[in-house]
Amino acid sequence: MGVYTDRPWLALYPEDRPAGTTPEHETVLEVFQASLAAAPDAVAIRYFDGVLTFADLDAASDALAVGLTGAGFAPGDRMGLYVQNDPAFVIGLLGVWKAGGAAVAINPMNKARELTYLLTDSGATALLCLEELYTSVARDVLPETQVRTVVTCSPLDRQSRDDPRVLGDVKRDRPDGTLDLEELVATHAGRAPEPASLSRDDVAVLTYTSGTTGVPKGAMNTHANMVFNAATYRDWMRLTPEDSVLGVAPLFHITGLIGHIAVALLVPCPLVLAHRFHPEVVLDAIREHRPTFTVGSITVFIALSGVPGVGREDFASLRTIYSGGAPIAPAVTDAFEERTGRYIHNIYGLTETNSPSHAVPLGRRAPVDPHSGALSVGVPVYDTVVRILGEDGAELPPGEVGEIVTSGPQVVPGYWRKPEATAESLPGGELRTGDVGFMDEQGWFYLVDRKKDMINAAGYKVWPREVEDVLYGHPAVREAAVVGVPDEYRGESVKAFVSLKPGATVTAEEVIAFAKERMAAYKYPRTVEIVDELPKTTTGKILRRELRDRDA
Ligand code: AMP
Repeated sequence: MGVYTDRPWLALYPEDRPAGTTPEHETVLEVFQASLAAAPDAVAIRYFDGVLTFADLDAASDALAVGLTGAGFAPGDRMGLYVQNDPAFVIGLLGVWKAGGAAVAINPMNKARELTYLLTDSGATALLCLEELYTSVARDVLPETQVRTVVTCSPLDRQSRDDPRVLGDVKRDRPDGTLDLEELVATHAGRAPEPASLSRDDVAVLTYTSGTTGVPKGAMNTHANMVFNAATYRDWMRLTPEDSVLGVAPLFHITGLIGHIAVALLVPCPLVLAHRFHPEVVLDAIREHRPTFTVGSITVFIALSGVPGVGREDFASLRTIYSGGAPIAPAVTDAFEERTGRYIHNIYGLTETNSPSHAVPLGRRAPVDPHSGALSVGVPVYDTVVRILGEDGAELPPGEVGEIVTSGPQVVPGYWRKPEATAESLPGGELRTGDVGFMDEQGWFYLVDRKKDMINAAGYKVWPREVEDVLYGHPAVREAAVVGVPDEYRGESVKAFVSLKPGATVTAEEVIAFAKERMAAYKYPRTVEIVDELPKTTTGKILRRELRDRDA
């Protein structure tokens, strides 16, 4: 037995659920059905002043499944979900599973270029989409895709508060050629679809993540993966039906899918949603609905604790807070605790690990590495083995820095229709995370660097290649290199260096505007520096790292 397979971290576990305990359900749909059977009138979602019970979710998702099936959607088909943190996201997931299909989680910030790619790559034949996103983005790109059925919804559905701070002056607009979700629910009331035959190994959700190539890949989050880590959240954070989950992470991201939706369906307990993250609106939701647990990126907690007048009583109900997705400076958790009285537990994972591979045991404080100043990301969660490998692929002993390589029941089997990418990132089923770190003698893990060029802007991942590809589309740009530069609030922000074609003139602002139009808001470069030449290796490869270090 090696040091990692001996799992030294087990000694740090809280009163652990026995290792090797398999969750009680095979699919996330079964999870929902068990909770529904146990308490149909229990609250599943609180959305402003709107309340959806498990029975309401069941009726709405039945209607959606009947509507989809009637429109030709078949088992195994994919449906895109292009909505914000609205009840429709959860209805969409359950509906597509009831129709025997899989969901494609799409960032609502995505623009036409990104949406076209995701719909085409996944081969989605249906799309559930906010009316405003349909009109502003989707309508024009759908003819290039295989999408035949579009169901639209509105953030005004299922609530009457219409808070202008998050909704602006959104109006109902029932676009031609689409089905309306609430109309489907009314039309098909009382009808149920044929029971779907889903298995634990079926893809529940495709979640897109990029790689060094810059081409987004659909991580195949299976039902078994999702159920396993929903149970991890439930048991690690000791959540019970008395709890309530605050949804501050985007639902399309793996944190929202597992740490908000799947766990709330499993416990079962209410999930509090607020369309988008607006600090003051979310604080109002905390004050009104008194949630007890949340997980989100550190910028969420910086923003919440920075709202003027916020105090300890606002956080009195939120007994359990976890943060992951981006590095956390120990000084930030200290300042948050000082202000709110709550300790932020670190949690670490990737899209490919269905949220956590590591977490700080509930009620413990993560140690800080005295050399690097890094806050520990915790210890591997249930049934998870994490090894640190050197450049040569050999296991490194505690204290030595190498790549974090993870295996466990939450690791995806691969990427959608990308066998080469799967073989490269998941050799033998173990995930090469591309994160660089070490384990100490006790079994605490620390991240110190990244092998990958990824930029982490407030938890949103930006892949330089994708931004560079867009910049190369500008007629004046000869070469482009994109790097992450330190940013006090976001951790990192995106910077581009570009050289121009002979005789071409363009300003940095024009390049920024060009990029902004073509990609989600978190991706476009906030600064552009125009240079004569980009630094290169003798073989002509652009040295991104040199540019990054120059700016650090
Ligand atoms: P995603 O696939 O969007 O979940 O991004 C996964 C990446 O986020 C990891 O490979 C890490 O680089 C980073 N990450 C996630 N959690 C943490 C954490 N707690 N501390 C530092 N970086 C993190």
